Amino acid sequence: MPLVPCRACGHKVDTSAEACPGCGATNPGRKMSRQQHDLIVLLIQLILGTALVVVGATLAWNAVGPIIKQQLIKPAPQADRE
Ligand SMILES: [Zn+2]
Repeated sequence: MPLVPCRACGHKVDTSAEACPGCGATNPGRKMSRQQHDLIVLLIQLILGTALVVVGATLAWNAVGPIIKQQLIKPAPQADRE
């Protein structure tokens, strides 16, 4: 069983230990707590989600944009503004 220093107090603990015998920190063998891990996963999902939306919107604009621009440049036949 590998021993690692507790992330909170440095006490040697087993990586599979659920609580540090020295300070009582949960998952002392892990680099980060469960909450921190969840937060980082959430942030990554948020960033990836935002990136996907931006990429999707850009692709959609590239597909629809020229059509809209064409409609704006060429007014409807009956709209005679000259
Ligand atoms: Zn500890």
